[in-house]
Amino acid sequence: MKEITRRDFIKITSAGIVGAAISKPIFGFIPPFLKKDHNPPLESELIKTPTVCDICFWKCAGWVWKDKKGNIVKITGNELDPHSNGRLCPRGTGGLGAYYDPDRLKRPLIRVGKPGSQTFKEATWEEAFDYIVEKMKQIEQKYGRESMALFYHGTTGPHFEYLWEAYGSQTYAEPAIAQCLVTREVGFIATYGQGLGSPEPTDVRNTKCLVLIGNHIGENMHNGHVQDMSHAIDHGATVITVDPRFSTAAAHSKYWLPIKPGTDIALLLSWMHVLIYDNLYNKEYVDKYTYGFDYLKDHVKRFTPEWASTITTLDPNLIRKTAYEMAKAAPSVVIHPGRHTAWYGDDTQRERAIAILNALLGAWGKRGGFYFSEKVSLPHYPHPPFPEPRWSWRTITTDKYKYAISGVTNVLIDHSLPEYEGPYKVKGWFVVATNLIQSIPDQEKTIRALQNQDLVVVVDILPTEITGYADVILPEATYLERYDLLRNSRHRVPNIALRMPAVEPKYDTKPGWWIARELGIRLGLEKYYPWKNIEEVLDWQLRQVGSSLEELKKVGVKHFERKTPLYIPDGYEWPFPTNTGKIELYSTDLAAMGYEPMPVYKKHEEPPAGYYRLIYGRVPMHSFGRTTNNPYLHELRPENHLWVHPKVAKLLGLENGQEVWLENQDGKVSSYSVKVRVTERIRPDSVFLPHGFGQKSKQLRKAYARGILDNELITNVKIDPITGSTGMRSNFVKILTQKPNK
Ligand code: SF4
Repeated sequence: MKEITRRDFIKITSAGIVGAAISKPIFGFIPPFLKKDHNPPLESELIKTPTVCDICFWKCAGWVWKDKKGNIVKITGNELDPHSNGRLCPRGTGGLGAYYDPDRLKRPLIRVGKPGSQTFKEATWEEAFDYIVEKMKQIEQKYGRESMALFYHGTTGPHFEYLWEAYGSQTYAEPAIAQCLVTREVGFIATYGQGLGSPEPTDVRNTKCLVLIGNHIGENMHNGHVQDMSHAIDHGATVITVDPRFSTAAAHSKYWLPIKPGTDIALLLSWMHVLIYDNLYNKEYVDKYTYGFDYLKDHVKRFTPEWASTITTLDPNLIRKTAYEMAKAAPSVVIHPGRHTAWYGDDTQRERAIAILNALLGAWGKRGGFYFSEKVSLPHYPHPPFPEPRWSWRTITTDKYKYAISGVTNVLIDHSLPEYEGPYKVKGWFVVATNLIQSIPDQEKTIRALQNQDLVVVVDILPTEITGYADVILPEATYLERYDLLRNSRHRVPNIALRMPAVEPKYDTKPGWWIARELGIRLGLEKYYPWKNIEEVLDWQLRQVGSSLEELKKVGVKHFERKTPLYIPDGYEWPFPTNTGKIELYSTDLAAMGYEPMPVYKKHEEPPAGYYRLIYGRVPMHSFGRTTNNPYLHELRPENHLWVHPKVAKLLGLENGQEVWLENQDGKVSSYSVKVRVTERIRPDSVFLPHGFGQKSKQLRKAYARGILDNELITNVKIDPITGSTGMRSNFVKILTQKPNK
């Protein structure tokens, strides 16, 4: 593999949306400040209020600027914010499209037709709450409070998790955890005794060598990380990208390893082999801080680069050479743990392998490796003790997935199906800001579970597909129109950021905290809501740490003193919160639970003849289906394309821009078509489809039927036996050139 010339990395804009190239009306709608005769006002004429961006989970703090008429004119980054360093990504600046989107849900709706029919009547909030409370009481009488399940996502989620705790149900799950982070967190907990959190404390800014394995910084636009990677490249860092696709990150890497999908653990084991048997590992660090080195040495003895080459299809010299590059940079090296880490069903073990490799290089707790992030110790607003439910997500999860650290959506769905006969039935769904039909694999199962519920409530901003299955839809105000809980995330500098409303909620929408509180009071839970509005809660919390709501309204972000070191001081004895007090190369926890104590490579399914592995991912201007209907971001990328290798294109007679359909290994055919993009940037055994397109809700007028939604083709799900997370990369598609008969 030839080395790749380094180029400039993607730039993050610091400009607002004013003056952006939005040329034509979107469904006849143009916000006043984008009209041709509009003269953008000076900043001195604008009013600014602090916010925390809600367009993705990176949660950058910023400023919302509005004119004297109350029109929001732009959003910019907050200079004090360590998540954004004062610069928002293009999606963040386009965030006001969420506020101006004419397709927003506008008032409460109650279903009058059959499930899925999307026939609703408009209702008042009183009517909607009355309906919900009556149904919840019926479910409680028949099955118990625990049978009301909550699925939630994002910053609205905690308001409802609190309500559920107060109500007496711990039947809840945050779908993104089991699909994205849990395998990574558990892989690192089993090794270091602690997880990573968000943003992950990778010291990319100071690193000399960054290794990305199926991790698409630049396409995933995690703001601070993109900036850090750009900075590291500018300062001479070596980037090694392992990916079946020549991604944006690969284009800025010294080495691209176009690995055969599903074989990453083989590569990781052979890198360990080279580090140990070529004596390249950090001996002093390993001797001082780790447990189980001799076991590991023995375990990886036969995993030579030549062995890995036969599995990964990578050149053994390239495997060896990249291991030497890492060792040369150590301890200033990051083998990045990634973000969406549920792939093939053995994902905790792959993350374990990544954690172990970092330990062999001495990167954990070292500059240019991993730093120790810290957050402010912010007390919760006092409340009476929560009732203890008779059963919870733990009851139905941890027997099977012993290392599950939170509720698993799939498990809750299994307990919601009509064929479930056991004692832990789920009979009501409360779905907050997550479109489960599109985010959870095996759509048919999700829909069957939905249709078996006595009550389905959806809280959302947009009429996403799942709203069509709701009995009641509650329209939430956008992040620009509401307060939320304080952002108190871990970082180099402990800091707190405030989101407050820049404008009044449009239409008859309400903030999530208000919806949760009002429902709580109607359910008889007044004692858990002694405060009248959330400002009281925020001010009380801030005063406990020497600040106030008044102060945060002025600065948006406040920094606090660290209490612990950022890195392990040289020569220092560092206790790790594991069973042995050391970094566990051999995991005593996993061994005790009956799992492999060290990662093992297992062969995964291969595409049948005529099929290609379906690789999904993202594009930098969208946060999946969350933004494909955003008027501004939609203009930047209205639909997805299917990446196809030229050899495949030749074999099938495909041309650039040709319309095709996809059928998966189980005969599931895509609802819509997608245009082909012929490119050498993908292996011939795979195709690539960005996620979030092909929306099926007609009410999303811009995103409806634009491209193919990968999720409807993901019917083969590989469950990680340690955490229960859902691997979705073992699905294969054939390419259809004729419109299929439905
Ligand atoms: S990375 Fe972009 S979209 Fe995500 S929170 Fe930051 S500015 Fe918003």
